[in-house]
Amino acid sequence: MNVNNIEQLTQLKFKKIENSWVGKINDFYISIDIEKENELIIKLNFISSNRGKLFEFLENEKEADHIESYSINKNQLEIVYKESVEVQLDSFLNEIVSLCGQIEAKCVCTNCEQTQDLSFYTNQKVYSLLCSNCGGRLLSQVEVDNSRRNNYLAGFFASLLGALIGSVAWIAIGALGFFASIAGFAISFCAFKGYELAKGKLSRTGIILNIITILIGFIFAQYAVLFIGFRKEFPEMNLRDFIILTPIIFSDMEILKSLMGDFLLGLLFIVLGTFRTIKENFIKAKENKNLQIERVDFSE
Ligand SMILES: [Zn+2]
Repeated sequence: MNVNNIEQLTQLKFKKIENSWVGKINDFYISIDIEKENELIIKLNFISSNRGKLFEFLENEKEADHIESYSINKNQLEIVYKESVEVQLDSFLNEIVSLCGQIEAKCVCTNCEQTQDLSFYTNQKVYSLLCSNCGGRLLSQVEVDNSRRNNYLAGFFASLLGALIGSVAWIAIGALGFFASIAGFAISFCAFKGYELAKGKLSRTGIILNIITILIGFIFAQYAVLFIGFRKEFPEMNLRDFIILTPIIFSDMEILKSLMGDFLLGLLFIVLGTFRTIKENFIKAKENKNLQIERVDFSE
């Protein structure tokens, strides 16, 4: 958007939300999305029994090449406006609003078609024109979501179960003598999935719980791979014997050294395989934390 138009919108007390501007002129709520350079999408949600006069004006503006196109979908008028020095955005908006007044148009809630007590509601990323009923419902819903009891315990066990299921892929590949980061990814994916299904809250704490279960899943998988390895050398060894022998195996420096190499390599692969999932979920957790909806106030 060019500097001139930004100044005009600021003077009209429009507010900027991400790539959009929302505002109110007289009783009309207008939003403007910045699509491409020098192209604005002006949106107006209204009802009127007589739209002819407004369409006549838009048709003329189109012919004069001030606008690229316009369309109406249900109650929403969308105008693709071309920015230029020749036409002033504020006078264009004022003209629209004055015509809307003449055709007795009324802005409507995008959810329920109510025309009273409207306002834009935003989470600082997207916005929506709503009546106070719909807006109020949205606000209380978000509040409930935000204060939802953290189901960390159930989340932890579900995540652990997921990690163990995911570790099957690791064991299968590990038993063949390979490491693959994709198997690490399987552990991490299943852990987060389990956590999500148990409705664990995706907060920082939640992610740390998942990292713990992923590590448990990894250690379990490594242990299972070790057992499979021993079984190959000593076919008569069963799981019970192996568990009893474990402290002895781990107290042997030579074995420990060779295992350490495998362990570190495995850890590297699990970091490679899970890094992305964890990072994505960290971003999600951050967004969840910041999820706040507010009513846009144009009074100041
Ligand atoms: Zn409504």
